[in-house]
Amino acid sequence: MRAIFIAVGSELLELDRIDTNSLFISRKLREKGILMDMKITVGDNLENLSWTIKNACKRAQLVIVTGGLGPTEDDITREGTANALKKKLTFKEEIVSGIRAVFQKRGIKMPDINTRQAFVIEGAEVLPNSVGTAPGQYLDEKDCKVLLLPGPPREMQPMFEDIFARKIAPLSNFLMASRSLKFAGITESETDSMIADLYRKYKNPHTTILASPGFIEIHLLGRSKKSPEENKAITDQLAEKIKTRLADYFITEKDITFEEHIIQLLSTRNLTLSIAESCTGGGLGNRITNVPGSSEVFLGGVIAYSNELKMKILGVKKGTLEKKGAVSEQTALEMATGIRRLCQSDIGVAITGIAGPGGATQGKPVGLVCLHLSSEEAEQGVQKIFTGDRQIVKIRSENCCLNLIRQYLHRYQN
Ligand code: AMP
Ligand code: MG
Repeated sequence: MRAIFIAVGSELLELDRIDTNSLFISRKLREKGILMDMKITVGDNLENLSWTIKNACKRAQLVIVTGGLGPTEDDITREGTANALKKKLTFKEEIVSGIRAVFQKRGIKMPDINTRQAFVIEGAEVLPNSVGTAPGQYLDEKDCKVLLLPGPPREMQPMFEDIFARKIAPLSNFLMASRSLKFAGITESETDSMIADLYRKYKNPHTTILASPGFIEIHLLGRSKKSPEENKAITDQLAEKIKTRLADYFITEKDITFEEHIIQLLSTRNLTLSIAESCTGGGLGNRITNVPGSSEVFLGGVIAYSNELKMKILGVKKGTLEKKGAVSEQTALEMATGIRRLCQSDIGVAITGIAGPGGATQGKPVGLVCLHLSSEEAEQGVQKIFTGDRQIVKIRSENCCLNLIRQYLHRYQN
């Protein structure tokens, strides 16, 4: 079954409103093996909407429209759908009574324009709205099912879940299996070149590589009409092959952030952490402290942005800063040992770098970042040249630091 989603509303084209309904719906569809082939955003224009719905029905077996079911002149989804399907709209008095009751509960008289919401497309099932006034409509046509839902997510979601469970999900005979793997310390293209020969052999599951700065996710989606066991087995088989191939970079399969994962690892090992940050400006500390329960392992840190603070608080030597510079492996080492000494933590990490766009010097380009981890067992430094703007370099640096901690725990604390 192919599905097309249509978001209706000029605000989604012109103002700072973003269509989120499609994301909610596509996730639900996917769970039942129905893939959303296209999503289209259409302004409040009757002709454009009729044209879109008409053509969508030629391409898909399920067309879902959200928005434009309100009572005002610009709410044209009912009319647009009726035009597209060449069907009549009929006025239903009982819908008006229902809407009037909603207003009465709020202690106000129903405005006359709300009667517009009582027009139903010939043959449609009316879907009651438990939260607002706009009813939805479902047309169970032979070639293409058409579902009209209100725009506000809190009204759309319960209505969608109800009709989906009752009428749409039972139509799909596909079975789904999925795995989601997270990796760090490897780029998107490196990932692809390391695993392309593996996943290309599989028509099912479908492999998607998603990259964020310093962080890679690989999604495997198995979709099959065969037995659920067989589908799961083939998806698991590819997941395990990829995990083995990329073992050095694998973080987790859990639906958690990188920092949550690191906090969990530190907690189970009973190890404490402190952080000295320069170019990331406390960004890593912020992420760490966003994790509930981080106080058990995270003792604290400093943002030592200036050379003076690096010397005064962390004990970085004047000679190091003069000879090697603030962005150097030796400075990162002295920052990390300094913060570990200051906080009396098991692990001290440090980040110093040039986030850009200015600040490059001879031999030290924008994006150069030096990181260091200090502990009783090991002194581990890395130097990277990251691409991207100031924000991206900062995020990459933070993730690189988290990866440094992950690698250390893997090597010395397993
Ligand atoms: P409507 O049903 O067209 O009256 O939409 C009412 C409100 O619902 C809009 O102003 C948006 O705030 C919200 N909305 C409409 N479409 C979407 C969408 N696709 N995703 C998220 N919110 C939406
Ligand atoms: Mg609208």
